[in-house]
Amino acid sequence: MRRRTLLPSGATALTGALIASVAALRSIHRSPDRSLARAKNALNQDRLIGIIMEGTNHETGVYEITGAEEGPTAVILGGMHGNEINGYRAAANITNWEIDTGRLIVIPLANIAAIEQNNRRGPDGDLNRLFPSGQEPESALARAIWRVVKDADPDVVIDLHRSRGLFNPHHRWIGQVILTANAQGERKQATDTAEYVIDYMNENHVPQTMRFHRFTRVDIRDINRGSGLLIQKVQHELDSTSFLVESTDFLLDLETQIRWTTTITEQLLEQNGIQRTT
Ligand SMILES: [Zn+2]
Repeated sequence: MRRRTLLPSGATALTGALIASVAALRSIHRSPDRSLARAKNALNQDRLIGIIMEGTNHETGVYEITGAEEGPTAVILGGMHGNEINGYRAAANITNWEIDTGRLIVIPLANIAAIEQNNRRGPDGDLNRLFPSGQEPESALARAIWRVVKDADPDVVIDLHRSRGLFNPHHRWIGQVILTANAQGERKQATDTAEYVIDYMNENHVPQTMRFHRFTRVDIRDINRGSGLLIQKVQHELDSTSFLVESTDFLLDLETQIRWTTTITEQLLEQNGIQRTT
C-alpha cells in the first residue's frame, strides 16, 4: 500500500523535474535577452548612418555598407516580428559584410519594442500589416521604416522572417518559403532569382533526409496573408524586386535557421548584382 502511494508521487516528481528541465531548455533557447545581446554585439557601429524613432521605445539603428564600385542598392530588414530571432541575428551579422559593388541599407532590429518582449507583435500590433498600398503606413514606426526604404531607392528589398511550421506538406504555415514580389518595370524578376536560390539551397544546404524542409517559392499574390505587408507596398509603389524569406523553427535549431537565412540573403543579393567579398 505504501509502495503504491509512493510510486505515483515519485513518478509525478520525476515528470515535474523533466517538465521543468525542458521548460528551462526552451527558455534558454528562446531567451530574447541573450539573442538580442548577441545581435547588438554583432552590429558594426562604424556603419551606423541613422537612428529612427530616436528617443522612443522604438529607437533603432540604420546601417549602410558600400562597395568600391557603384551598383544596385538593397534594403535588408530583420526583426519586423519580435520573436523571429533568425531574421534579426542574420541582419545584425550582415552589418559586418564587405561587398564589391552597390550598397546595402540594413535595419537589423526593425521592431525593437517587440524584440525586447520576444513577441511577434509590438505595441502597435503586427508591424508587417501596417504598410497598406497607396496609403500612409499605419504607425509612426512603420512610417519611419517606409521613409528609409523609399529614400534608399532600392533595386531589391529583402525582409527576413520565421514561421512556426512548414509550407510542405500542407499550406497552413509558410516556413521554408521565399515569398516573391516581382518589380513592375524592367528589373530582374524576383521569380527567377528566387527559383535559382531555392535550387541552390535544396541542393547544397538542406540534407536529403529533410524532405519537408526543402525550400519553395510562393508569389505574394498567390498566398492569403492579408494586406499591409511591406513587400506588397514595395511592389505597388516602388520599382523594386522584393522578397520575404521565411525560415522555420519546426525541427530546426536556431543556428541553422540563422545560417540558412544568411545564405539565402547572400545568394539573392548575388543574383541581383551585389557580391559579398568576405
Ligand atoms: Zn514574420
